[in-house]
Amino acid sequence: MGMGRYVTVEQRLPGSRVYGRHALGKETFFATIKREFREKFDEDTDDGDRSGWCPFLARSAGTASFVCIIHHERPRFCRRYRCCVMRITGPDGRAAGTVKGRRDLVASDPGLRDLWERTITPLFIAEEREWLSEVKSRLIAAGYGVTVYD
Ligand code: SF4
Repeated sequence: MGMGRYVTVEQRLPGSRVYGRHALGKETFFATIKREFREKFDEDTDDGDRSGWCPFLARSAGTASFVCIIHHERPRFCRRYRCCVMRITGPDGRAAGTVKGRRDLVASDPGLRDLWERTITPLFIAEEREWLSEVKSRLIAAGYGVTVYD
């Protein structure tokens, strides 16, 4: 999530609560870290090096998906603006494209754009998780790497 670098933890509070700031949204917020992510969150924030990632973005156990660990209390800006639902890498592991909130592909890879036009655009699946799952399967079958953000 490219917007992640604008989100910071201002203060750790008792009970796995945090006081955070979203610089772009010019807002502060309180949130509670989901229980299953508390230990990992402690490790990550102690480590300090998250290379521009949002401190509340974590890999979902046993999957290739990422989740927001304060989803129900995420900043207003995040609720309004969903910047990226999927990242796609080519067979060489390099970034090939991203999928924005309205199912729009942004890609510099012409092969990926062509594949998208031929096999993804005609898909008619209303439910978003189902659509993401089908898109992921098709891209992987074509040799791409896929990371889905929840
Ligand atoms: S939705 Fe959650 S993980 Fe994503 S930028 Fe906002 S706070 Fe961070």
